[in-house]
Amino acid sequence: MRMAQCSCSCGNDQKIRLIYSCSGAADVGKIADLVARRLDDDEWGGMSCLSGIGADLSGFIESAKVADNIMIDGCPVGCGRRLFSQKGLPCSEVVITDHGLVKGSAPATVEVVERVAGEIKAKFSGK
Ligand code: SF4
Repeated sequence: MRMAQCSCSCGNDQKIRLIYSCSGAADVGKIADLVARRLDDDEWGGMSCLSGIGADLSGFIESAKVADNIMIDGCPVGCGRRLFSQKGLPCSEVVITDHGLVKGSAPATVEVVERVAGEIKAKFSGK
């Protein structure tokens, strides 16, 4: 379920959850992208544009400053995580190759995307 922003005085300080993907050319980058879209479709969070952050577009930067940012990187190179670090933005990183997949030998099947999306939800459950 997408996290709601609460601006009243009830003490609920849950942040909006934004999902980013490295969307790299590698097969695991493709899986990262598809998993991010799947999580968005499930309304677990809202997918945002990593390119918008890289381009220093103020709307994307300001949104990321106040959100619970989940970065899905395809491999340990961690391009998305590094970009956020360079911009001084916080994020929690998920690496697709940590989910039993090998870069270069990872078909982006529906089953793989659903499994990894489920594992990400479980990892962050209660967060
Ligand atoms: S994190 Fe890995 S898969 Fe994603 S863009 Fe960087 S090198 Fe490519």
